[in-house]
Amino acid sequence: KSGFISIIGRPNVGKSTFLNRVIGQKIAIMSDKPQTTRNKIQGVLSLPDAQMVFIDTPGIHKPKHKLGDFMMKVAQNTLKEVDLILFMVNAEEGFGRGEEFILEKFQTVNTPIFLVINKIDQIHPDELLPIIESYKEKYDFKEIVPISALEGNNVERLLEQIKGFL
Ligand code: GDP
Ligand code: MG
Repeated sequence: KSGFISIIGRPNVGKSTFLNRVIGQKIAIMSDKPQTTRNKIQGVLSLPDAQMVFIDTPGIHKPKHKLGDFMMKVAQNTLKEVDLILFMVNAEEGFGRGEEFILEKFQTVNTPIFLVINKIDQIHPDELLPIIESYKEKYDFKEIVPISALEGNNVERLLEQIKGFL
């Protein structure tokens, strides 16, 4: 089994942290500042029974200028070509305009999409269900997986679910 996986989400939701954890190398640039990741950086995870090529795309967000517009196009084309999209959101922040904007982009692609709710180490367990429910009514995600990319919670389970879609 092998496939391409694109990680989509607003800046700072934890895309690079996740990628670094699963690949096990410092391949993506990490920063507290938004938009540090300017290029698509691919990391390959080779497991005994699967190979996953991860693409750390620049955060799709509302374009403010021409460059943003161009980068959006590149990101959107990427979405159509991959086998699976991981839409990563921050559990600490509610559904916002940034997420809504990204979900609009998903309407034009047929690629399966997982919702990955990251930073669950920062919330109370009781807060998780309402977050899941609020996203469920926005889009028909193939899977909804809460994780902590920083602490590693549920990351193995996510990889297993990804395998199922390759
Ligand atoms: P990106 O812009 O989506 O690539 O986000 P980064 O991976 O650069 O992460 C942005 C910030 O969030 C960094 O300070 C990370 O350490 C932090 N972060 C990422 N994942 C988690 C997580 O699961 N829990 C917590 N508490 N912080 C996280
Ligand atoms: Mg990044």
